[in-house]
Amino acid sequence: MWLDLRDIIEMPGASKDFSTNPAPEALLLPPILGFRTPPSASGTVSNTAGVLTLRGRLWAQMRCVCDRCGREFDRDKTVETAVPLADVPEDRDDGVSYPLEGDGIDVDRVMTDCFLLDAEGQWLCRPDCKGLCPVCGKNRNDGPCGCRQNVDPRFAVLEQLLDK
Ligand SMILES: [Zn+2]
Ligand SMILES: [Zn+2]
Repeated sequence: MWLDLRDIIEMPGASKDFSTNPAPEALLLPPILGFRTPPSASGTVSNTAGVLTLRGRLWAQMRCVCDRCGREFDRDKTVETAVPLADVPEDRDDGVSYPLEGDGIDVDRVMTDCFLLDAEGQWLCRPDCKGLCPVCGKNRNDGPCGCRQNVDPRFAVLEQLLDK
């Protein structure tokens, strides 16, 4: 969504609210299968002594797949950001501030970047996901599988060799 900032660019103390639904396709990281509801974002751009700052929050209800056990799970996530908007493009592209495009800003782009940058490295169905048994492939979150537990590591190597 394009947010026109003409009314506040020259008005210290002024602010403008926004509320938008960023395109879900742009938010699809590999562990995300889909969104249960349309992702939504809202926030405010404010002019503080001539400096524009965008403060926003994006809320997503996702259907994900666990990195460790492959099971599907639901996750709700809120990300927040506060970034300065520069009225001239920065010399260095440090990703910390956004240049204005004309007299406005594409708030979907800012909020989408914020979501992607915030994404954690591992997506687990639960923090203590036990993963799959390397021997029989059973999901260990469902309980023990009957394979021998706590095998001596040296012995486990021998077992793997014998399996081949
Ligand atoms: Zn899992
Ligand atoms: Zn097993």
